Amino acid sequence: MWVRGLGTLSGSESAIRHDWTRAQVRALFDLPFPDLMFQAQTVHRMHFDPRAVQISTLLSIKTGGCPEDCAYCPQAARYNTGLKAHKLLSVAEVIEKATAAKAAGASRFCMGAAWRSPKDREVAQVAEMVEAVKALGLEACATLGMLSGEQAQTLKSAGLDYYNHNLDTAPEIYGDIIHTRDYQDRLDTLGHVRDAGLKTCCGGIVGMGESRGQRAGLLQTLANLPEHPGSVPINRLVQVEGTPLHGTALLDPFEFVRTIAVARLLMPRSVVRLSAGRAEMSEELQALCFLAGANSIFYGEKLLTTGNPDVEADQALFQRLGLVPMAVEIEPGTVHADVTDDASPSACAA
Ligand code: SF4
Repeated sequence: MWVRGLGTLSGSESAIRHDWTRAQVRALFDLPFPDLMFQAQTVHRMHFDPRAVQISTLLSIKTGGCPEDCAYCPQAARYNTGLKAHKLLSVAEVIEKATAAKAAGASRFCMGAAWRSPKDREVAQVAEMVEAVKALGLEACATLGMLSGEQAQTLKSAGLDYYNHNLDTAPEIYGDIIHTRDYQDRLDTLGHVRDAGLKTCCGGIVGMGESRGQRAGLLQTLANLPEHPGSVPINRLVQVEGTPLHGTALLDPFEFVRTIAVARLLMPRSVVRLSAGRAEMSEELQALCFLAGANSIFYGEKLLTTGNPDVEADQALFQRLGLVPMAVEIEPGTVHADVTDDASPSACAA
């Protein structure tokens, strides 16, 4: 099959690449909308059941008080957003939440903490939580900030399955958004996570005032990682009063759909997740995103610190669109609905 902008696709393998140029990615963004949507759907259907949507949930195990200065984030201690901070939850509290998540159908449970980089003793505490979550028969995911190689190994040894660490935005504007770390720090942690044998969850945020070319730069960087992330959360900026990005010009909704479609084309086997910002999206916009290749959402009323559509509204939307929860095998012969976790509202997932 010949697809404009991608060339001839003779099978699923032909679409897996790690050598995208910025110009090639930008050319996909610039396609006429009908062509882009058709191509995204074509590639989506090569790798996924287009009706199946992975359902994700997220628990903040340590909220606020973060020393980083991410311009989008209400959890940064330096911004006055009225956020109620809380210290690290106890293992018992996490078990209670994880048990409830499992009862609601979850097969994966993610824990997010607002740290720049955890101390070894904090990693040890989270490792205990991971072991407890695994003992419940759930997959475990965490997002704790920058990790050393040893810390990634500790989490892997405790049974952690996934680690979320977002690239946030394009490399060339990273310094405009965050001043307390640099892009290479992110890439280094992702390398440690991969080296430890953990699966990666990695995406970014759009609508922070970046250009289309810079959105292309974010997706190009994600697609050219040594391995495509297992899941790619695409967040739309949630503008929180008190953060520097509050008041940023809103992103054209069709541009958001284009971003989803290009992510689908560049990373054909990854789950593309509608993450932060979904509460502000109409159902029609969400439906367009599913058509563009999004196949995961967050489920639950809160994403770390910002709102999310309620469960009943999501269930009703799924019914109207004929969508079904994606089933995953977490043990040989056992199939569950996948209720994951990864990114944050502002996509920390640090
Ligand atoms: S996004 Fe993460 S690292 Fe940045 S300020 Fe928020 S909690 Fe801290």
